[in-house]
Amino acid sequence: MGQTLREFIKETSCSQRKDQNIQSLDLELMACSLFDIDRSKLFSSYILLDQKRKAQFLSMIQRRNSGEPLAYILGEKDFWNVELEINDQVLVPRPETETLIEDILLSFNQHRLSVLDLGTGSGAISLALKKEREEWNIFSSDFSEKALGIAKTNSLKNDLHIFLACSNWLNAFRPNSFDLIISNPPYIKDDDLRLESDGLSHEPRSALISGPLGIEDLYTISDNAKDFLKKRGWLYLEHAPQQAEELKFSLTDLGYINITQLIDLNGDPRAIKALSV
Ligand code: GLN
Repeated sequence: MGQTLREFIKETSCSQRKDQNIQSLDLELMACSLFDIDRSKLFSSYILLDQKRKAQFLSMIQRRNSGEPLAYILGEKDFWNVELEINDQVLVPRPETETLIEDILLSFNQHRLSVLDLGTGSGAISLALKKEREEWNIFSSDFSEKALGIAKTNSLKNDLHIFLACSNWLNAFRPNSFDLIISNPPYIKDDDLRLESDGLSHEPRSALISGPLGIEDLYTISDNAKDFLKKRGWLYLEHAPQQAEELKFSLTDLGYINITQLIDLNGDPRAIKALSV
């Protein structure tokens, strides 16, 4: 008789070395995806693992152990209130980015708002906001056409309408157009050792790396966004915790006011908002 799924998960979980990337939760989520079942059914049902499924499962484990993010292997990731299709053309949406969503939803209740999400990737920020505020006009741009294809798939999957544009930051837009400009741009330095770490090593370099300093794209966006925001429009930027002070000074220099840092669930300054006047 073949092995059961439950036995296989237990056995694999015990045999993983400490230096391997996989966690037992990863194994459980891979199994759920492979058999298309809920996690609650995983151990309560008697499921036999045939040779074909076992080979598929082993290949998923091998991918994960080579540092590929779980979201790419499963092909999906939840973000805020939306389920997103994900592949290696886009960053895996992170819980830290939900810090921006939370603050925006608490701060803006207006019916009509014109919003731009720069570097949308999978469409995570845009779609989470659109689902919460259906009347808002949301424009989502990316330099990568492949990323825009995924954002489009995700907008259809979630039945949410956003306007997609291929653009190098603000190039495709008209000045004085937006009440809110939001971005989670690349903000890692090109020689940062983290780039070789679990997960990051498989994500698109262009979505992670900004240049030798890491802060280049954040500066470009801060500088240009002023012209594209309406009077009293807000800029929201995600950044690395160690960039918080530098970015605050630069936004002040550029003439933004009411500059406020946003703290993520780890207690780190992860985003900043600033008012353009
Ligand atoms: N958030 C990513 C990280 O810290 C960095 C790149 C980005 O999100 N813009 O791993």
